[in-house]
Amino acid sequence: MEYLIVGGSAAAASGLAAIRRNRPQARIGIVADEPAPFYYRPLIPFLIDGSRTADEIFFDQPPPAAWGAELIHDQCVGIEPKRHAVRLRSGRELRYGKLLLAAGGAPVSLLPHLAGAESEGVFTLRSLEDALQIRQHLPGCRAAVVVGGGLVGIKAAEALLRAGLAVTVVEQQAQILPLRADAFAAEAVAKRLRAKGMKILTGESPVEITTAAGRANGLRLAGRTIAADLIVLAAGARPNTNFLQDAGLEIERGVVVDKQMRTSAPDICAAGDLIQFIDQADGATAVSGLWSNAVHSGRVAGDCLSGGRAELPPLLSVMNSTEIAGLPLLSAGVLDDGGGRFTAFAESCGENYRKLLFEQDRLAGMIFLGSTEGAGVCANLIRSRTALGPRRDAVLREAMKSLRQF
Ligand SMILES: Cc1cc2nc3c(=O)[nH]c(=O)nc-3n(C[C@H](O)[C@H](O)[C@H](O)COP(=O)(O)OP(=O)(O)OC[C@H]3O[C@@H](n4cnc5c(N)ncnc54)[C@H](O)[C@@H]3O)c2cc1C
Repeated sequence: MEYLIVGGSAAAASGLAAIRRNRPQARIGIVADEPAPFYYRPLIPFLIDGSRTADEIFFDQPPPAAWGAELIHDQCVGIEPKRHAVRLRSGRELRYGKLLLAAGGAPVSLLPHLAGAESEGVFTLRSLEDALQIRQHLPGCRAAVVVGGGLVGIKAAEALLRAGLAVTVVEQQAQILPLRADAFAAEAVAKRLRAKGMKILTGESPVEITTAAGRANGLRLAGRTIAADLIVLAAGARPNTNFLQDAGLEIERGVVVDKQMRTSAPDICAAGDLIQFIDQADGATAVSGLWSNAVHSGRVAGDCLSGGRAELPPLLSVMNSTEIAGLPLLSAGVLDDGGGRFTAFAESCGENYRKLLFEQDRLAGMIFLGSTEGAGVCANLIRSRTALGPRRDAVLREAMKSLRQF
């Protein structure tokens, strides 16, 4: 195979498209381990309560067919960069000229510390299959607990609530959405969710999943147990690097890449949730959990492998636009003052809330809750790290102006 891609989602699809554009005749293979065709992963929570069907979240055209690549349904279990070879679970070995690693992320495992985590009725939510399994388990269930109040946990909890279950979210930090909101915005969202009937417990950690006949029936916390017939573990995601452990690639928080997504091994690029990158907002290394970052980095990786010169645009690890309990939440860049490094300005009017964070004259972070008018301009300023000089105050005034109209 001239080009081989490992992975079957956003980064793999954009990488494939970039390779095909540069190399119309090349032989390209994609090793992907999910049985489902390519789909929009952020939409899988809607499969839980049936507000969308699987057909509605598939890509319009499967990328392998659209871009003329051979799809190999298998799992890559190891790579040997010196031999330009990958090993598959089926026992097959494939040789490649250039390799794109786009294996994404996997849920953080709570094993072995959380007893009962392998019982029937306990799920994670990363794939279409996970969502359908949760849906299959719903009949007869009355109460669910979601462990983890991040975006995935909250989206799962909303879906379970829509499905008619009593839902409790257990978050170990002091607020929900710790990576997407500050305490004020998180509390406003939590209030909306509580008004819809969701219970939210913050500052609490799971001790044990209680079971009867191998089936989960509750979550024990310090001092009390919450009854539940269904438990979703949503404790975050991490880069899917297990199959790369013996490959000799440089791996820190994720696979280390340069601006053209080259790994430390020749002829191998990596992209998407698998990689670590420098967050444009604060200059720190970060791993991504964003669809758009996977698309951008996949495109650059595919271009680089096929002779192009594209470079990774500035990426943010927080660049989020979502709606929770009907309340729009848009956040980007840094969300707290970083121990005094960033200066925060915040105003609220009812449920509408705005916060801008500056590092001297550069906008480094923002939260828009409720009305999001003007958020796009701010997001661009964060991404471009534009030195605003005397325009800083005008940007701040403008962002807060429309808030005061409510
Ligand atoms: C419930 C949920 C909600 C989300 N909501 C949002 C949102 O609102 N906004 C947003 O920007 N992002 C959201 N995300 C994150 C977003 O989906 C990811 O950032 C994005 O999918 C990453 O794309 P990727 O191609 O890097 O990897 P992934 O989408 O993780 O895909 C990797 C693929 O590779 C396959 N694979 C892994 N290892 C192997 C192997 N060894 N061999 C073969 N195949 C392998 C996997 O099975 C998978 O199909 C959400 C994620 C989830 C789970």
